[in-house]
Amino acid sequence: MSTQTQLSARFADTFPELAVPWRSEEAPDPRLVVLNDALATELGLDPEWLRTPDGVAFLLGRDVPEDARPVAQGYAGHQFGQFVPRLGDGRALLLGEVTDHDGRVRDIHLKGSGPTPFSRGGDGRAVLGPMLREYLVSEAVHALGVPTTRSLAVITTGRKVQRTRVESGALLVRVAASHLRVGSFQYARLIDGSRGGDGEELDVTRRLADAAIDRHHPQARGAEQPYLALFESVMDAQASLVAQWMRLGFIHGVMNTDNTTISGETIDYGPCAFMDAFNPDTVYSSIDAQGRYAYRNQPAIIGWNLARFAETLLPLIDDNVEQAAATLQPVMNSFSDRYRAAWLRETSRSLGLPTTDISPDQEKLIDDLIGLLTEHQPDLTRFNRLLAETASVDQVDDAPVLRMFTAPGDITAWLKRWLAMSPDREAMKRVNPIYVPRNHLVEEALKAAEDGEMAPFLRLLDAVTSPFERHGRFSKLEYPAPEDFGRYVTYCGT
Ligand code: AMP
Ligand code: MG
Repeated sequence: MSTQTQLSARFADTFPELAVPWRSEEAPDPRLVVLNDALATELGLDPEWLRTPDGVAFLLGRDVPEDARPVAQGYAGHQFGQFVPRLGDGRALLLGEVTDHDGRVRDIHLKGSGPTPFSRGGDGRAVLGPMLREYLVSEAVHALGVPTTRSLAVITTGRKVQRTRVESGALLVRVAASHLRVGSFQYARLIDGSRGGDGEELDVTRRLADAAIDRHHPQARGAEQPYLALFESVMDAQASLVAQWMRLGFIHGVMNTDNTTISGETIDYGPCAFMDAFNPDTVYSSIDAQGRYAYRNQPAIIGWNLARFAETLLPLIDDNVEQAAATLQPVMNSFSDRYRAAWLRETSRSLGLPTTDISPDQEKLIDDLIGLLTEHQPDLTRFNRLLAETASVDQVDDAPVLRMFTAPGDITAWLKRWLAMSPDREAMKRVNPIYVPRNHLVEEALKAAEDGEMAPFLRLLDAVTSPFERHGRFSKLEYPAPEDFGRYVTYCGT
């Protein structure tokens, strides 16, 4: 291996119970389709080298440094509310960890790397369109300032893969603060439970909680009750994350407990999409018939997932289960207040208003806005951005944002109340994007990429990864899909 790249096997070595040593399958004709140069550099990887055949072999997990030990990670999860004890990486591998330029440990992970012992009948593969989609949307979410896993590269394997039609096999190289999930804790508890024996039965869960504290929530270490502090810290990270999704109209689409990270990063870009018209009932995922993961349900669902996390920590909190529950319950009960505070903070940022000591008037203004948006259903991204361009009280009647409404009367009154609070419009332009990945343009770009034409994808990527500045001649990206695009439907795990 002709590189200085260091890949640690920290997770593989620390958690043999949660990791199956495994190798990615051979790729008959690998081609690097897209590489994230800036991220590579941040990770201490040389982008020029990554473009060479040796570099691509490294990214595929076919030629890794001697000390590296790629593993498939085990985890459980509630999928649409149903508990599945053994999910795990059925088409993914953790290659290892690197230390980035800021000294942070980051996972390098492959998606689409071939079957593993967790595949449960799946083929272990991924195809080009969905991997490019994850690359694009995750990088857009990052550029919007929202915690997320990142995308380092997409490589086609040269293999034909059967889906509803034959497609090009591909791999995504994903980078994350870690791949610890609520589902990892659920799995650890099952392993501990199956072992039994005095004193041993919490071994894996306790070590996992300690590792999560060290890696993501170090301030919990010094707390009187470190595992309770861990829970609170994860709760705050997730409340803040979902509040940011809500502010931006991001619908994750598959908030299963195995897709809920301990770090607070967004993970698993399958059926996700940005909502255009503000309709809280919006659901895009083809398999979410009941709307469990609809826009409006995301805060309640993250609360539900956190309750599942709390259950895994109960025995660490106190030997006496009733005592442990009594300790955890008040913290769990505080979730809705914490979420509400996070959401008010985030929405206040959108509106250029103070984010601390929020007054009752400001709170009322925000609640009234949600009522108006729900009633009139304007395009959320465009609404927020045009607000920042609304000049002053005496010009309200000419405000560009009013042109988004057929009956602007009650919006005008709301605008006057808002402007009377002296919003900081320059700050608003730094948090309200001009560009989000518009569903119809994403589909267009992916279709072109599948036909071998990468230019539309790269152009879209360029715009959504610097979303706060206007790019010349991309005005189409500022508007929602035309009527004839029809109802948008997204798919998981393809
Ligand atoms: P996801 O919907 O991506 O969170 O995946 C849920 C579970 O299905 C995980 O255990 C995945 O590893 C597994 N999975 C998804 N697609 C495949 C596939 N093509 N082959 C094997 N396992 C898969
Ligand atoms: Mg997943």
